[in-house]
Amino acid sequence: MILNILPKTRTSNPVSKLIRPMFEGKTIKAVLGGIISMTSLASGLVFLPIDQSVVAANIQTLNTEIPLETRKSYANVLPAYTGVSQGFRFGHPGIDLTAPLGSKIYPIKEGVVIKVQYLKYDYGRAVWIDNGNDTVSLYGHMGKIFVNEGDTITTDKPIGEVGLTGKTTGPHLHLEVIKNEKNINPQPYLALGRVNKR
Ligand SMILES: [Zn+2]
Repeated sequence: MILNILPKTRTSNPVSKLIRPMFEGKTIKAVLGGIISMTSLASGLVFLPIDQSVVAANIQTLNTEIPLETRKSYANVLPAYTGVSQGFRFGHPGIDLTAPLGSKIYPIKEGVVIKVQYLKYDYGRAVWIDNGNDTVSLYGHMGKIFVNEGDTITTDKPIGEVGLTGKTTGPHLHLEVIKNEKNINPQPYLALGRVNKR
């Protein structure tokens, strides 16, 4: 058997391989609890006692800055929301807030519209807003869009409406928050007001 002649080699550390997807799917807080100090989280380098290898370069860090900046709830962003149909997880870098077609969508924070785009097989009709402080928010699967690229927007005026565009099976807002070019879980920052029971 020719196939068995070559020696079996390990191409990567099996421990890291096992742990990495675990981290990506959950918040660091949920996985590690209080084991790792906030200082090491902030540095982006977390050394695990298991194999002493650095596995955390891409781990989502907890951010306390955004809630202080926005103080927004689901009700502020999407007053007509009816629930959270999908949370932030590996493969889904945002949250899905369900609401009837045509529900008004408000930005999480004031800012400048940096992109308005139609991506048929992805976000559909979508708006990207630079909220300042290295924070960008993305609103997907929209119907009507009331803003243009370059517009300065405020939280008291809707940027558009919930639609059924792009890769979606029902009307909802797909919301992403990107901080320092990394997607972070928007949910903790938006649930400060009315909280959905699910
Ligand atoms: Zn989504």
